[in-house]
Amino acid sequence: MTELAYAEPKPKVIAGATGDWELVIGMEVHAQVASKSKLFSGASTEFGAEPNSNVSFVDAAMPGMLPVINEFCIEQAVRTGLGLKAEINLYSAFDRKNYFYPDLPQGYQISQLYHPIVGEGEVLVDMEPGIARKVRVERIHMEQDAGKSVHDMDPNMSFVDLNRTGVALMEIVSRPDIRGPEEAAAYVTKIRQILRYLGTCDGNMQNGNLRADVNVSVCRPGDYEKYQATQDFGHLGTRCEIKNMNSMRFIQQAIEYEARRQIAILEDGGAVHQETRLYDPDKGETRSMRSKEEAHDYRYFPCPDLLPLEIEQDWVDGIKATLPELPDDKKARFVQDYGMTEYDAGVLTADVTDAAFFEAVAKGRDGKQAANWVINELFGRLKKDALSIADSPVSADQLGGILDLMAKGDISGKIAKDLFDIVWTEGGDPAEIVETRGMKQVTDTGAIEAAVDKVIAENPDQVAKAQANPKLAGWFVGQVMKATGGKANPKAVNELVAKKLAE
Ligand code: ADP
Ligand code: MG
Repeated sequence: MTELAYAEPKPKVIAGATGDWELVIGMEVHAQVASKSKLFSGASTEFGAEPNSNVSFVDAAMPGMLPVINEFCIEQAVRTGLGLKAEINLYSAFDRKNYFYPDLPQGYQISQLYHPIVGEGEVLVDMEPGIARKVRVERIHMEQDAGKSVHDMDPNMSFVDLNRTGVALMEIVSRPDIRGPEEAAAYVTKIRQILRYLGTCDGNMQNGNLRADVNVSVCRPGDYEKYQATQDFGHLGTRCEIKNMNSMRFIQQAIEYEARRQIAILEDGGAVHQETRLYDPDKGETRSMRSKEEAHDYRYFPCPDLLPLEIEQDWVDGIKATLPELPDDKKARFVQDYGMTEYDAGVLTADVTDAAFFEAVAKGRDGKQAANWVINELFGRLKKDALSIADSPVSADQLGGILDLMAKGDISGKIAKDLFDIVWTEGGDPAEIVETRGMKQVTDTGAIEAAVDKVIAENPDQVAKAQANPKLAGWFVGQVMKATGGKANPKAVNELVAKKLAE
């Protein structure tokens, strides 16, 4: 498998009053495992269920209840680790992170602090063709999600919905290798793409199934390179963490705002204090949620209810053997096999279902033409009608049929678009439609010749002009095409018009 070559993107630079500043960003992405049941109980994870209907005794932390690990969830974490080219730790363990909150009945969250299940990995973050950033993943650990407090249903009361309590999350922690707001959004996009290819998380940000905590600091040009050379965080600025972001647009806005806020403080002679902040999309600003001094002391300790998690290399290898082709490989293969641009390959592989549709169309046909049709006609129309590929009225077979008719010379590109329209709205077999509606291209030169002769005979003035200036021959071609309902073979028309005008 050949890999595509990439250059690194330039870091974002913000000009301050005292010189240039650069951004340093590290992310903690929380991805909900696509599992029907929770991490330590058999309760359902169904979204949108009646409040407190998917709550087992374990989730509600009834006295004496014990967590039992969900093997399927562990498998998804391992699968995710393998998809991020990460080390899988055969030994991992669960810890209690203690804090009080009404939507956390246990009084602690079971997480993995000291021994996460997945270690170092990496993600290639595509920025534009030929430009990508390699972002290191530090670790992935498993943890339980908390429930939901509802404050806006009653003026005097708050409610708690425990349906989400105990749902399995994978926390994917990156190194601070991201260098700007666009890169941060591209990083989350790439993580989501990989998770969807793997099928380990549906990536639905609106439902909160994928959310990110964004750590932002600023430094002077050159400092980041010193950090990279030594891995000494001392070369970087103090960071602030922006919690719980679930929109690509807000992630970018929050980073931009936060970086400028920190720069203003530093240029004013102040110091950035490490703290947790929240982004307010209405005001477009971040505000302090809690400072380091107020930070919880979680009193982490190994969870006495669960044995350390020991998995076997054979089991991991078995999972590895079932991994699908991943986005980077698929993209490189599309470029190589179909001779398309990296840009087009990026569009076609963004979603695994799109990629499969394209390949069904391209199989045994001209790949470049198939790519053009899928991207421009099909995706264009789907977007216009706000449909996803799964609901496409035109199937891969039907689109392939249209391309075959063009390849045989039965229809021109222009007619093919009309045909696509018909198939889109009415369905049917493209070849049959062309036959029954008489859409076949006229290649019979006799018929075309008659049409050319007619147009020439009816327009002596134009003939004189075109003979003086051959560029005007196009007008005749247009007239003939019109007269034949667009069905004349354009090449034959061009040739005949040129020949007749020269006579
Ligand atoms: P904590 O346990 O306090 O959350 P971590 O070491 O787990 O701290 O780091 C959390 C995130 O912060 C990681 O994604 C990491 O890459 C990022 N990070 C660490 N230092 C910086 C920094 N100086 N600037 C930006 N991000 C940082
Ligand atoms: Mg953290």
